[in-house]
Amino acid sequence: MIAVDGAAGLVVVDPDAETAMRLRAAISAAKEDRAELERFKAVKPVTRDGAPVIVAANIGSVNDLDFATQAGAMGIGLMRTEFLFMDRTELPDEDEQYQIYRTVLERFPDDDVIIRTVDIGGDKPCRSIDLPKEDNPFLGLRGIRLCLAKPEIFRPQLRALLRAACHGRLKVMLPMIATVSEILETRVLIEVCEHELESEGKAFERFELGIMVETPAAVFSADALAKEADFFSLGTNDLTQYVMAADRTNPMVVSLSQASNPAVIEAVRLVCAAAARANIPVGVCGEAAADPALSEIFVKAGVRELSVSAASIRRVKRQVCSFEGECL
Ligand code: PEP
Ligand code: MG
Repeated sequence: MIAVDGAAGLVVVDPDAETAMRLRAAISAAKEDRAELERFKAVKPVTRDGAPVIVAANIGSVNDLDFATQAGAMGIGLMRTEFLFMDRTELPDEDEQYQIYRTVLERFPDDDVIIRTVDIGGDKPCRSIDLPKEDNPFLGLRGIRLCLAKPEIFRPQLRALLRAACHGRLKVMLPMIATVSEILETRVLIEVCEHELESEGKAFERFELGIMVETPAAVFSADALAKEADFFSLGTNDLTQYVMAADRTNPMVVSLSQASNPAVIEAVRLVCAAAARANIPVGVCGEAAADPALSEIFVKAGVRELSVSAASIRRVKRQVCSFEGECL
């Protein structure tokens, strides 16, 4: 007999009687918990003063849409588009991207869908883009830096997004923002794309443009960025990595790479305060959004959207209801 404890990452070969009993009890408890969680699928959490807290899904492709809707996602808080670009020899063209974004939007006609522009580089290499080797890829040409350096990649994506915006409530988000000029340059490119589409007679809609806050530079210039961004989304995976100077992929520094570190929490508070001053919404779409100990801190700091993997949606809804005490 082999016992697998997926939560703990354990495989026990030939478990003794006591271990088998313990694991069977854990299976029953997990089944009960799952049944209890089922009712949270339809729940819409609100804060004590009645503000909605959106619990949305992180997705990487249209294949994740079924899981997201079945779990009760209140929209998409992060679609990572780099998975459309990785593991293939040719980049997706504008039409292919348009069809994919449209499919996602049409699955959530009544909810916001936040699609992130391509975040290649760092932990997300892409063999179809010819890039020089970098000594420090996490500090190199990744995310928005790469997009602005390679408009031949960025423009088809922006055009596809403008066209897809006709089919739902699209918001677009830029990764790895460190300066105000990166947003302004993107806005100029978007305008160019709008003019092109207009002259080609193709239908398009404008969308809100927000940013990922995941660099220390973005934290410390949050007031200036909030003047140019329509919303913030805290990328706590990278924010933790950059605040703590601890590589998110290196198991030897995993004890440092914790979003619960007071330095990271303080960064989150600074960003929430800047968002409140500018009256723009702020969400969290890093893994920490699903951490029960942290989601409460985030919501109390002013976060109004937690975007998590489909598997965590019901649990996060239950968690928010437990500390805010209100659910619709
Ligand atoms: C993050 O950095 O927290 C994030 C959500 O983006 P990614 O994990 O894709 O870098
Ligand atoms: Mg990131």
